[in-house]
Amino acid sequence: MKLLLDMSLEELTEELVSLGLPKYKSKQIYGWLMRGVDFDGMTDIDKKTRSLLKERYIAVPMSIQTKLISKDKTQKYLFRLYDGNVIEGVLMKYKYGNTLCVSTQIGCRMGCKFCASTLNGLVRNLTAGEILSQIITVNKENGGTAEKREITNVVLMGSGEPLDNFDNVIKFLQQVNSKDGLNISYRNISLSTCGLVPEMKRFADMAMPVNLTISLHSPIDERRKEIMPIANKYSIKEIIDAAKYYFEKTKRRVIFEYTLIEGKNDTRQDAEILAKTLKGFSNHLNLIRLNPVSERNLRATKNDKAQEFLTILQELNVSATIRRQMGVDINGACGQLRNTYLKNENA
Ligand code: SAH
Repeated sequence: MKLLLDMSLEELTEELVSLGLPKYKSKQIYGWLMRGVDFDGMTDIDKKTRSLLKERYIAVPMSIQTKLISKDKTQKYLFRLYDGNVIEGVLMKYKYGNTLCVSTQIGCRMGCKFCASTLNGLVRNLTAGEILSQIITVNKENGGTAEKREITNVVLMGSGEPLDNFDNVIKFLQQVNSKDGLNISYRNISLSTCGLVPEMKRFADMAMPVNLTISLHSPIDERRKEIMPIANKYSIKEIIDAAKYYFEKTKRRVIFEYTLIEGKNDTRQDAEILAKTLKGFSNHLNLIRLNPVSERNLRATKNDKAQEFLTILQELNVSATIRRQMGVDINGACGQLRNTYLKNENA
């Protein structure tokens, strides 16, 4: 069964015309799809067409399995896909709008030591339509429509490494940006990578003004290797060169993510080397204290030590902020909710 959400409006039109349907119907159907409405709810489509479509396609590829709401209003979702897999997403509410964090893969194969998404490896890539569907589902759940969206910003920071699922992610970006669809500006989208250098360059060459976020987590190659296996493949120098290249091509300021882990990356020396590494080009550093994963023996840097780390960086003229941890009480970090779910299911 094909997913209709994997198709752009043009592709959908071509597909439906080949089944003998009139062209105008594809526009109506596409409108319903963007609102997250299944075949039975497509009231301006006749019954015969609907049952023809139902036999061949999936309109709504996921449902909400669990929804948790944090004290800080953060919403955490576990979605159940049509094939039984589960993935997660997080909706964060800010003054300027609502940001949805979406997953790009079921699981992950990058193996970062602090991250729950990778504990059970990679199950499979998500398709463009499955990434898009997370936005449509949460938008609908919060009373939004395609025209009046409840989601203003999207971050590809859920489970998975987006650049390890390159083609589907690019297609998703084009679809979510499309005027026929949700029409979300590239400038309101951030893609986070652990630093797949060739793919970062390939993405830069596409010159989509998406914000690129790079998970750095240490400015020292040998230390970075201890927490991120991908560091064995690409050096920090290569990552910084790719970041500069990204800025040249897109004119978007690159953001670095830095998870503070006690004793791993939070000393004065780390801050000083980090400041040198980030010098001389347009960037910003987001510090976040580790959200500990119970399976792993890592602790968060204490609050006052994190503040101190920030102060050292600022004295060295680094543009940096500490990000608020959101939704800690509801398994807010990457992969935590799915992981808890899988553990219970197998118990
Ligand atoms: N694979 C991509 C995107 C997913 S992770 C990447 O590596 O960037 C999104 C961000 O959350 C990354 O910066 C990641 O390092 C961070 N992260 C993962 N688990 C975390 C945890 N337990 N505590 C704090 N940050 C975490």
